[in-house]
Amino acid sequence: MGSSGRQAGAKVLGPGEAVLGQTPLRRRSLPRDRIIAVLDEAPGPLKADEIWALASVHRPGLSIATVYRVLKQLMADEQVRAVTLPTGTQYERCPAGGRPHDHPHFLCRQCQVAYDLPSVLFEPQSLAVPFQIDAYELTLHGLCPQCLSTPPRINI
Ligand SMILES: [Zn+2]
Ligand SMILES: [Zn+2]
Repeated sequence: MGSSGRQAGAKVLGPGEAVLGQTPLRRRSLPRDRIIAVLDEAPGPLKADEIWALASVHRPGLSIATVYRVLKQLMADEQVRAVTLPTGTQYERCPAGGRPHDHPHFLCRQCQVAYDLPSVLFEPQSLAVPFQIDAYELTLHGLCPQCLSTPPRINI
């Protein structure tokens, strides 16, 4: 609707002043970007429904079917990989230059949050016997730092 034909930006819009049809000042993030952001912020691999719940905070109306579709695309693009944990299939970002399953995970028995652990905990190449190891899945179990620092709730 601009009469001058100039690009928006010359005029400063106040909050809620954006007009439909104009380029919004802050573009709505795509489901793909949102899901990548959620995975980047997580301490370790997430379940699909956890990704959906976290991504839905900023993208209400996002369907779980879209989450699965985007995850499939991201895995095909080698941006994301699936990890098999005792809790089921979970998803995490592929580190640049990383090999499949190149680090162990920790699964908290209380909050069920999965954490990435440093790969130094297990170096397959340090094995005395020369196996050719293509991948490994190692999960440690116990209580995470968060749950350790939270005193158990006592019902009186
Ligand atoms: Zn925990
Ligand atoms: Zn991981």
